[in-house]
Amino acid sequence: MPDRTADIVICGAGIAGISAAYFLSREVNGTILLADERPPLTLTSDKSTEAYRNWWPGPDGSMIALMDRSIDLLEELARASDNRFLMNRRGYVYTTGRKEQAECYLKSSKIAEQQGAGELRIHSGACNEPAYLPSSPEGFEEQPDGADFITDQALIRKHFPCLSEQVVAVLHTRRCGWFSGQQLGMLLLERARQNGVRVVNARVDGIDIRHNAIRGVRLAFPDGHEECISTGIFVNAAGPYIQPVASLLDIHLPVFSERHLKVVFKDHLGLLPRDAPLLIWDDPQCLGWTSEERAMLEETEELRWMLGIFPPGVHTRPEGGKGSQVILGLWPYDAEPTDEVYPIHFDPLYPEIVMRGLAAIVPALAAYVSNLPKPSVDGGYYTKTRENRLLACPLPVEGAYLIGALSGFGLMAACGAADLLTAHILKTRLPPYAAFFRMERYDDPAYRAKLECWDDTGQL
Ligand SMILES: Cc1cc2nc3c(=O)[nH]c(=O)nc-3n(C[C@H](O)[C@H](O)[C@H](O)COP(=O)(O)OP(=O)(O)OC[C@H]3O[C@@H](n4cnc5c(N)ncnc54)[C@H](O)[C@@H]3O)c2cc1C
Repeated sequence: MPDRTADIVICGAGIAGISAAYFLSREVNGTILLADERPPLTLTSDKSTEAYRNWWPGPDGSMIALMDRSIDLLEELARASDNRFLMNRRGYVYTTGRKEQAECYLKSSKIAEQQGAGELRIHSGACNEPAYLPSSPEGFEEQPDGADFITDQALIRKHFPCLSEQVVAVLHTRRCGWFSGQQLGMLLLERARQNGVRVVNARVDGIDIRHNAIRGVRLAFPDGHEECISTGIFVNAAGPYIQPVASLLDIHLPVFSERHLKVVFKDHLGLLPRDAPLLIWDDPQCLGWTSEERAMLEETEELRWMLGIFPPGVHTRPEGGKGSQVILGLWPYDAEPTDEVYPIHFDPLYPEIVMRGLAAIVPALAAYVSNLPKPSVDGGYYTKTRENRLLACPLPVEGAYLIGALSGFGLMAACGAADLLTAHILKTRLPPYAAFFRMERYDDPAYRAKLECWDDTGQL
């Protein structure tokens, strides 16, 4: 006999499960149970850089459409809460010192513009070009969308004086910025609770399926007792554990995980402007070593790899309000498919490598290389599909659903994904992009063919 009943049971109170609970609770009158074996938002969702963007050029415009919907929902929530989660719209500034990469920016930006990401404005220094509008450090209203592609060197130096002299082109994407993910999560959780969602501290460790339909969910509580919840709808929102939870349904998901780290420094010399957007260096690089350091690395077999070429993508942004000196740095130079193992392993050299890499974008940061401010490192797993698109869809067991594979974009995509999941569960009208976020997309030969010709997953 079941101990309790619920209309919907959601497994996982990260940003995915909490968003699902909130959007479902706005529409559903019945009982929604949100079960997590950990406190809410403490596995991956509190490790994020908390950045968002609608700039996702891809084989089709579906990522842009979903992210635009998600950002619309974020903006609605920000307006309704006096911007409690401090959403800004400073943009992402992609930078390169290579002419060929500048051409790639132009090409992919034209695609993004056609796919609906907003107008592309070109600033090469020629007459009759539109004026470049700098972003405002706070708030998100009345800012341009689309992107500004800048090759006019005077304009780059004027608006981004901290950038390296090597930079030949800047792509400033504008419906982008960051917010407090923790504040967003807590706001959604509070509202979900007000709407009647019950949060339980328990592990989902079994699912009762009869005639290929969900009948119940078994919860294991920290004190050792178990309860069976009778339900017809189960949502897998287990983050890095979506595959183990899907295995309870005997389902294999097309996902894998990569470990991603983030380092926090105190910029006590004030070298990164506090009003900077997210800055990304898009070129491969070798780290700048002195000849003594180089000789030492050459001699030490386990460190020799640090003399090699590092991939593009090191990025940074200032964090915190007035008076904060905090900066964040990320560089997934060793992201490979891996098992999800906790606690996360941190390479002790990561902070120094990131700081050396960041000096390529903001040369002033080189001042910290020989005198590294005390770093704090955390991280988690990007659980993802091969083309880096999320899954918000029904599963092949009646009443089972998935919201996951949120990779490195779960904070920005959670509202859009939960809104899509809600439409699936309530069987209301699906948006045109829905099919692109189902597992069945891989059954479509046209989709598979598109992926063959598109190797940029847009990941940072
Ligand atoms: C370093 C880093 C930087 C990032 N930067 C950004 C960024 O700038 N912008 C952005 O949008 N995203 C970013 N992300 C990605 C984002 O953090 C994730 O996509 C998002 O947090 C995933 O949320 P989730 O709810 O799916 O997973 P999680 O937050 O991991 O939540 C899953 C929950 O499920 C629970 N669970 C699992 N199995 C069970 C079970 N059997 N029973 C009960 N509970 C269970 C877990 O305890 C956990 O609480 C970043 C991630 C990392 C690691």
